[in-house]
Amino acid sequence: MADVLVIGAGLAGSLLALALAERGAVVELLDPGQGCSATGLSYGGVPWWAGAPGPMDQLMASAPAAWSHLEQRHGPLGWSPCSLRLHWSDAEAEAEAETEVAAAAGQVAFGHSGLDQTLARVEALARRHLGPDQVERLEASPGPGGRRVLRLDYGRIDCRQLSLALPQALERAGVRRRWGRCSPLQAGALPGRQVVLAAGAGCRELWSALPDRLRVSWAGVLRLEDGSLSRELLNTSALTQPNDILMPLFAQRQGLEQRADQIEQPEWVVDAGLAPWGEGLLLGQTSLIRPGTACGASPQAAALELELRQALKRIDPRLGQVPASFQQVPVSFSSSGTPLAGPVAGAPGLWLFAGLSSPFALAPGLAVLLAEAISGAPGALERLPGATEEPNPGWA
Ligand SMILES: Cc1cc2nc3c(=O)[nH]c(=O)nc-3n(C[C@H](O)[C@H](O)[C@H](O)COP(=O)(O)OP(=O)(O)OC[C@H]3O[C@@H](n4cnc5c(N)ncnc54)[C@H](O)[C@@H]3O)c2cc1C
Repeated sequence: MADVLVIGAGLAGSLLALALAERGAVVELLDPGQGCSATGLSYGGVPWWAGAPGPMDQLMASAPAAWSHLEQRHGPLGWSPCSLRLHWSDAEAEAEAETEVAAAAGQVAFGHSGLDQTLARVEALARRHLGPDQVERLEASPGPGGRRVLRLDYGRIDCRQLSLALPQALERAGVRRRWGRCSPLQAGALPGRQVVLAAGAGCRELWSALPDRLRVSWAGVLRLEDGSLSRELLNTSALTQPNDILMPLFAQRQGLEQRADQIEQPEWVVDAGLAPWGEGLLLGQTSLIRPGTACGASPQAAALELELRQALKRIDPRLGQVPASFQQVPVSFSSSGTPLAGPVAGAPGLWLFAGLSSPFALAPGLAVLLAEAISGAPGALERLPGATEEPNPGWA
């Protein structure tokens, strides 16, 4: 029998399985293996300098070193330094300023901060870790309707490469793979001595009594697999460079996640951007959140795809027409921003690893801390941000 059963082989479950194996645990990793994880369709951006001051900041700042360490141990996983390019137009900045005035007058429920404040906030955050030449404002396409870009040093995991490399890395590390979908778990009859829910948006289906802050959004992206078209688009783009991630400065997904507890109707937003994905490109993204904590069925795709293509056209007219397929995937997040990594209350032997904001920056470090806690290492639970429940006895 394995020491630890990890359910879900996305980013969280796979990195945890590697960390547990490194500590000498016998690990079994269960996943249906049909390739429909949030990890497989992710931009893979590693916002290592963007943590709020405190323990999370240190954990995120260690992400480049943590990914390099993982690659030294397990071979290439898709890590590379890159730039994050945050784009906006004058018209969008004006609209933002109007919303800011309306927000100040209490006419909209959430705050916008306007162009100058938004730029100042992002630059101040980045400059805690980056030097002056690693943060720069660019006029990418001058003239009326032109777009501007804030370029920041960044890092990314190529998620196409990661998805291909992880199964071999897990096998070499001695992790036992089991293919299949786990059924809902029963109290007192767990399928292992230590069981970790790392099934992303599928966690609540396995164990319904999880904290309310664990929620699900549905992300939609266009997947362009034509390598030569992707290269041509990137090589001739006014806004981005071949290895970089492009996102809107006024991205709306995070605000939607933060107000998820208050929404009464399904709400969705579009954040036009792109990221390299193997030889191809991911063009995203739509984010839809429903009231409540259930994952629910995949949203109707047609209207979301149309809105996404309209938004992409505004950053490059060619992007609205690309021959790419629209894919939707459920993504777990924490509405409070604090990850859920630790023991599950009232269920000895059951652990949760889900709902990470900025998971590509947090998961490598958190996986190591969680593996220590699961193994019963003294003081490990206290070092784990997000572990608020009572401790479990370790497997060791
Ligand atoms: C378009 C897009 C862009 C993104 N960009 C970024 C970014 O730039 N930076 C960043 O940090 N994050 C980004 N994210 C978010 C990030 O990709 C996800 O939060 C992260 O990959 C989630 O990893 P996970 O392992 O928790 O979940 P998943 O990757 O969803 O993995 C969960 C796994 O559990 C399996 N599973 C589910 N139910 C069961 C069951 N009953 N039994 C067994 N297995 C089960 C699933 O099949 C799946 O393989 C993005 C996401 C998307 C979609």
